[in-house]
Amino acid sequence: MDLAKYIRDVNDYPKKGIIFKDLTPLWQSNEAFRYAVDSLADIVKDESIDLIVGAESRGFLIGTAMAYKMNVGFIPVRKAGKLPWKTISAEYELEYGTDTLFMHEDAIKKGDRILIVDDLIATGGTSLAMIEMTEKLGGIVVGSAFIVELSFLNGCEKISKYPTYSLLKY
Ligand code: AMP
Repeated sequence: MDLAKYIRDVNDYPKKGIIFKDLTPLWQSNEAFRYAVDSLADIVKDESIDLIVGAESRGFLIGTAMAYKMNVGFIPVRKAGKLPWKTISAEYELEYGTDTLFMHEDAIKKGDRILIVDDLIATGGTSLAMIEMTEKLGGIVVGSAFIVELSFLNGCEKISKYPTYSLLKY
């Protein structure tokens, strides 16, 4: 399966100079979506994993599908004002701006083994924020998994302390 066929480049979105990797054709295709979920789940199948952490909103698409496939729970990481309970936060830098992400303070128990998941890693800021919050709550980061890695932005170097997995590199 050539997943690249299901990823559309959108120039100058959301800002001039950014080439946005639009994964909507992949989500839309039963075969490509299933292949992406199954392939990522297969890569980490020998790891002991209790929970997946994923950030809104595209991280929810791949993260919850993987959680279902792997029979583990899912922890949503969200933008300001979206989580109803007490939260912890981490600031992060994006390829196009900065922001803060939040996680429920009781989402992770000490020693829980966590897989970080997102649709795409660009600068690595989002993943680093998810790792920071996971570790603040005593979770053990097993690794990070992505459908797409923009390797020219060196995001995986930022989180190279942990194994990183991706299906497609640009
Ligand atoms: P980063 O924190 O820079 O690694 O950015 C990762 C997050 O931003 C992911 O959730 C992506 O969905 C989104 N993102 C950043 N850059 C792009 C891009 N060029 N194309 C598509 N999504 C992107």
